[in-house]
Amino acid sequence: MTSHRQYIACSALLCLLAVSPPQGNTGGQWWKGNTHTHTLWSDGNAAPEHVADWYVKHAYDFLVLSDHNVLSQGERWVPVSESEGGSLRAADVEDLEARFGPGWVVERSDGDGREMKLKTLHELRAKFERDGFLFIQGEEITDRYEQHEIHFNGLNLGTVIPPQGGDSIVETIQRNIDAVIAQGKRLNRPVLGHLNHPNYQRSLRPEHVAAIKGERFFEVYNGHRSTRGHGDLMTAATEQIWDVALTIRLAEHKLGLLYGLATDDAHNHHGNVDVSVPGRGWVWVRSDRLAPDAIIEAMRAGDFYSSTGVRLADFGADDGRLWLQIVPQPGVSYTTEFIGTRYVDGSPATSGQLLAISQDLRPSYRMTGDELYVRARVISSRLHPDPFAAGDLETAWVQPVLGPAAGRSMALARKKPLP
Ligand SMILES: [Zn+2]
Ligand SMILES: [Zn+2]
Repeated sequence: MTSHRQYIACSALLCLLAVSPPQGNTGGQWWKGNTHTHTLWSDGNAAPEHVADWYVKHAYDFLVLSDHNVLSQGERWVPVSESEGGSLRAADVEDLEARFGPGWVVERSDGDGREMKLKTLHELRAKFERDGFLFIQGEEITDRYEQHEIHFNGLNLGTVIPPQGGDSIVETIQRNIDAVIAQGKRLNRPVLGHLNHPNYQRSLRPEHVAAIKGERFFEVYNGHRSTRGHGDLMTAATEQIWDVALTIRLAEHKLGLLYGLATDDAHNHHGNVDVSVPGRGWVWVRSDRLAPDAIIEAMRAGDFYSSTGVRLADFGADDGRLWLQIVPQPGVSYTTEFIGTRYVDGSPATSGQLLAISQDLRPSYRMTGDELYVRARVISSRLHPDPFAAGDLETAWVQPVLGPAAGRSMALARKKPLP
């Protein structure tokens, strides 16, 4: 880590829109985490300690257990099924006892059957955090408008946030965002909300993603195979959604950048079903401390990248240049694509054009003057070992930075009369 992220020199107006460079992170280190996973607290098929144990053993540093409309708090009992069909099977309970020792599992009889008590986040922290692993409390706020699924992860929450509802797709998204922001203010802590899997049930279009106010995060990669990340004949891929949404936000809405996360959204933890498993996509966050507030603040500042296998040593933007440094693996080659939208004659050109391509391990892109934003995608020659879709290559996504034309488009937008 040679330097922390810096941002392109900008006009006063542009600086209002740009995020501030992270302060005090010089010498910070990279922490690997997943912000979206399910357990028996909602529709995941494993106990929370089983899930946490997987991430600990696979060298993750932090984890958000993000169950649907619930935090891992209070008393919750789940039935133990003697058959193979139940969510919690007798064999799973035996496995927990064997792994965590006598007295770990708490059971009670329930008429004809038996139930197991779910571990709370408090209990999980007592078990796992002494080894340097971190939990960030979170929830997948699971809402819908008509047939449109609107799922929004709240990270570093203190209390549960029920789905807020609304009279349109955009209003439903925004009311949930506003609830997360309001809780952060009330509890005086940094919180973060990310809009999930826009293509699940073909629920959200780019203009919906573009319109989010007060927040700047969405899932560009979700490992759940029902989420149509690559798009289909009727639906744009989530990377295309990212570029169109970035263009609309910068050229029309004055809403600033949008950052992309990679997450697992794992529900299947026993290896017998692979629709949504742990380990497909994650984030690397640069921070001087592994603590909830520090991780959230670093992500809010854009000091993170998303990955399904490619590792970066460093990245940044300075002197009109976006640059990165790839950590090479033996026998693997890397292609970096710099992607952005140009702003020509007062309006945006095609969203998400390929601006440059490089095979270098230290690729960089120098702004030419007409970019609204530029981002980088690094594709390795190695197949993902357990992919979202067959043929997926290990990839990293570097967050977008504002280009020189962002300030011009904003100034132009200010001169236009309000509708
Ligand atoms: Zn969801
Ligand atoms: Zn989910």
